[in-house]
Amino acid sequence: MTVEVEKLAIIGSGPAGWTAAIYASRAGLSPIVFEGALTAENQEAGRLPMGQLATTSLVENYPGFPAGDLRAYLKDALSEERQYALPLDTFDEESYPRGATGPAIVELMRRQAENFGARVVSEDVVKVDFSRRPFKLTDSEGGTTLTETVVVATGASARWLGLDSETRFKNNGVSACAVCDGALPRYRERAVAVVGGGDVACEDALYMSRFASEVYLIHRRDELRASKALASRVLAHSKIRPVWNSVVAEILGDDERGVVGVRVKSVGRSDEESRELEVSGVFVAIGRRPNVDFLDGALELTESGVVKRPTPFYSGTSVSGVFVAGDVADDRYRQGVVAAGSGACAALDAERFLNEYSIC
Ligand code: NAP
Repeated sequence: MTVEVEKLAIIGSGPAGWTAAIYASRAGLSPIVFEGALTAENQEAGRLPMGQLATTSLVENYPGFPAGDLRAYLKDALSEERQYALPLDTFDEESYPRGATGPAIVELMRRQAENFGARVVSEDVVKVDFSRRPFKLTDSEGGTTLTETVVVATGASARWLGLDSETRFKNNGVSACAVCDGALPRYRERAVAVVGGGDVACEDALYMSRFASEVYLIHRRDELRASKALASRVLAHSKIRPVWNSVVAEILGDDERGVVGVRVKSVGRSDEESRELEVSGVFVAIGRRPNVDFLDGALELTESGVVKRPTPFYSGTSVSGVFVAGDVADDRYRQGVVAAGSGACAALDAERFLNEYSIC
């Protein structure tokens, strides 16, 4: 009995995974894409199919999607059953965002990949065996797939504070991506809070200072972890107010208005002194976790925990034939468009690898 061996399996369904799938399909590799499973456990962990971009609202910085009424195009391009996340008929002219949303952009990518013949499996890959080729992947239903090459594009999940009020106001004033959401009208000329003391928190605070009237930078210590240059810019900024030695105890608001404030408490105080700040949004920037657990050490990681690419400008990993794309290997840019570009690189590298070994 011959066992079927795939040429390329792609793990992940954000911009990196779908772009890899589009390129690989057009190259005739007929890739199989593990897009992840829609489970409560994945939801809890912030690891749902379609990646981080699908968790944002209006996306203004993805090239090719200017502000405008894109409903007719979206309806035409997407199959009916995939329009569930984009309630195109129920939105009235006023409330429909003037431009594309994160879910819409990723849905279009998925559709484009399917149009060219990518096969989609709605399961997680829970185990990999990269010790010999063909590689073996085990999915969440217990199925196994053998494949000559793999693109790992499982992205990263935001670290959250873990408060109930944080979950309640996600996408209604709580965000883990200032660059994605920060320019929305709700934050303009109003105070916002950024939580964290690293590079991302400082970059987010500076970014938000363009729109907000003031930015509270809530940090659990009295010293920033961010690089000196960035920290100095933040501390010298007239709109940014550090709230030292403090943690967020609760995010305040209601379903109609979303976030209206935040209750912070001082750390190391026996009386747990707390106070309220009036803000229209809370940007959580306490780090991101690349989604690498399922690899269980099969690929080398860098010190910051992303998948290591030993050769600059090459998507190859520590295992020959396994390639990587997107935020699972990115601790610097973390943008949808960058992830998409790296997905194209990984597919091209996989294709060249297969040609080199005469597998195509
Ligand atoms: P990070 O450097 O790990 O900083 C996370 C921050 O969040 C720290 O200040 C930490 O406090 C705080 N924090 C963690 N858990 C918390 C909690 N439960 N409650 C409250 N605060 C909490 O993460 P990052 O800023 O996302 O950066 C990730 C990596 O990307 C870093 O290596 C960074 O240098 C790099 N990066 C570089 C640039 C650049 O070079 N321009 C830009 C962006 C990112 P403590 O300080 O007390 O630990």
